[in-house]
Amino acid sequence: MRLEGKVAFISGGARGMGAVEARLFASEGAAVGIGDTLEDEGRAVASEINESGGQCLFAPLDVTSEVDWQKAIADTVSAYGRLDILVNNAGVSQWSLLHETSEADWDRVMDINTKGVFLGTKHAIPAMKEAGGGSIINISSQLGLVGTEQSSPQYQASKGAVRLLTKHTAMQYAPDGIRCNSVHPGPINTAMTEQRRADPEAYAKMLSRIPIGRYGEPIEIANGVLYLASDESRWVTGSELVLDGGWTAR
Ligand code: NAD
Repeated sequence: MRLEGKVAFISGGARGMGAVEARLFASEGAAVGIGDTLEDEGRAVASEINESGGQCLFAPLDVTSEVDWQKAIADTVSAYGRLDILVNNAGVSQWSLLHETSEADWDRVMDINTKGVFLGTKHAIPAMKEAGGGSIINISSQLGLVGTEQSSPQYQASKGAVRLLTKHTAMQYAPDGIRCNSVHPGPINTAMTEQRRADPEAYAKMLSRIPIGRYGEPIEIANGVLYLASDESRWVTGSELVLDGGWTAR
């Protein structure tokens, strides 16, 4: 098994890509903590994993709260003994024109998508040092790499910031055996993209930008995250894994 004996924490693990990663990690031998604001959904994912023979706990977590992060990481370490892997996956998207975007909308998206990654990393680092190293995977976006008029200033800025925060973390903690990489998914079939996919015109526009011609599935991202979490990627840090159906190749 590719994560045998490892302990992982995944933010935003109650649904979407985070939940798929939690199931995959558990099936590869990891004990997994998941944190989310969606408590019922999160507890259901944890129960499902435990009932199928894996190990998973749910921690109530708003990624913008430092106190929540401290408790979530402490609970995971106390239940499973260590922390080897952190996936900063929780995020929100928003579509708006810059000149119509409120300050509150800007702050909300930046807080969840960027400050949340900072806080998670901050509180995982001491536990990873204790474990002798670790792997942090930050979920950015293809929209953290290239511009589009189809998103919002706060989503693109937040995901661009995650890209460089990743490289900073990689530089600062390489001597401690802690790796940090970003993942850049293109459009994926999750609740986050439901509204767009329901609008035929917007959906056709999005599809026209994906050379492979379809949205990705959560497992197609989770497989890349698994590689970065495992020791197979032990020489990989500060890199960008682009999984976008070809969006950024144009
Ligand atoms: P999703 O909406 O299905 O899942 C996101 C999860 O994050 C949810 O469970 C949600 O409750 C949780 N979350 C939101 N705010 C939170 C907070 N403040 N504290 C804790 N948890 C919070 O979306 P998804 O598509 O699975 O997205 C996962 C990640 O992938 C996000 O960071 C997203 O920006 C990124 N991403 C998604 C796409 C896509 O097309 N779906 C593309 C590129 C990047």
